[in-house]
Amino acid sequence: MKTLFRNALVVTQNSSRECSRLDVVVENGAITEVSKEAKGSNYDETIDCKDKLLMPGLVNTHTHAAMSLLRGYGDDLRLQEWLEKRIWPAESKLTPSDIYSGSLLSFIEMLRGGTTCFNDMYFQISEIAKAAEKISIRGLIGYGMIDLGDSSKREKELKECKNSIASIKASSPGGLIKASVCPHAPYTCSEELLRESARIARENSLKLHIHLSETRKELADSLKQKKKRPAEYLDSIGFLGPNVIAAHGVWLSKRECELLGKKGVSIAHCPASNMKLASGGVAPLPELFDAKVKVGIGTDGAASNNSHSMFSEMKLACLAQKNQRWDGTVMPAQQALDCATINGSKMLGFNGGSIEKGKDADIVLLDLNSPNLRPLHNAVSQIVYAADPSNVTDVMVGGKFVVREKKLCVKGINEEEIGKQVQKIAEKF
Ligand SMILES: [Zn+2]
Repeated sequence: MKTLFRNALVVTQNSSRECSRLDVVVENGAITEVSKEAKGSNYDETIDCKDKLLMPGLVNTHTHAAMSLLRGYGDDLRLQEWLEKRIWPAESKLTPSDIYSGSLLSFIEMLRGGTTCFNDMYFQISEIAKAAEKISIRGLIGYGMIDLGDSSKREKELKECKNSIASIKASSPGGLIKASVCPHAPYTCSEELLRESARIARENSLKLHIHLSETRKELADSLKQKKKRPAEYLDSIGFLGPNVIAAHGVWLSKRECELLGKKGVSIAHCPASNMKLASGGVAPLPELFDAKVKVGIGTDGAASNNSHSMFSEMKLACLAQKNQRWDGTVMPAQQALDCATINGSKMLGFNGGSIEKGKDADIVLLDLNSPNLRPLHNAVSQIVYAADPSNVTDVMVGGKFVVREKKLCVKGINEEEIGKQVQKIAEKF
């Protein structure tokens, strides 16, 4: 299958961050040409893109897809009450097929909103992988391990982790889905579990995905119990390295930012979730950038957001920094788009995030005729500050269309049916 996107306004995200009118050719799942005028012929399809903005698919670097089942269930509560009275009791009622339906719902929302790649941590991993494969979205999936210092629980969690790695390897021959190792957080995992997780990840060349320094309580408890800040503690047990993706990082000190930079750790910044759960403070992005830490953007689960819109998330990431620093020049739109595309793809270990020859064909088209995208002064500003999921008209993952003219076009997926299933599941909470 050879597809030509003709005369699109392309936001390439290449090394010179070029934005111009270009042709883009896709063949066998990859971008094979980006030029002023494609010379080839014999295209199976030519798409006239004169009214379209063409950009790389967005990358959501931290989520819990199945938590869409809990969207709007327990809003406006304090964190502990939210977890203990709402989230944990509801999660204990979820069956494997519930997890499948909830994940599928999130993946539909992501694709329709221009997100083509995600990084997930949850349980019932094979169900999440099955849903992702079914709908053709790219992602990393890992089993979230918690032992709370209990050694028999630790053994069970590690066994589940190893099983999930094997099941993902077996279920994704096309390579859209990859496994990761996910100890939940430094405060829910024993030192032994953290060390063993790091060992398994390195031995299998896998990413190591963890929550880090999300709340002030986590920081205070770490200082009290371990006499170290959370990132310093992880470093002291040999956990940190270039395969680590740490979500949140709200309460990192400047010294911890430098430490993460030195160790090659990536941060998944989740501004909406941090604000909604009132984590306090704002992740120190300028210090992380200064320390050369790779920063991606994530929505976190839909229970604490409540959407998977990466457009909202990019905008919030910029606004939160500007407001916090009293400086409109902090976190410009280009930096947010970098986090949500090229940086995110690199930190998850995929070959996407830009429109360049040789990259995976994960491509999104926006309708430039939408009222909220007129007039057009700067395409990057438009994406970050003005666009929303309703502007997405077409989405391609690995060279295959999954959304055409605003309609999901994946065989065997009935959106209305999934909506009904999810509503029924939600009624049991
Ligand atoms: Zn999370």
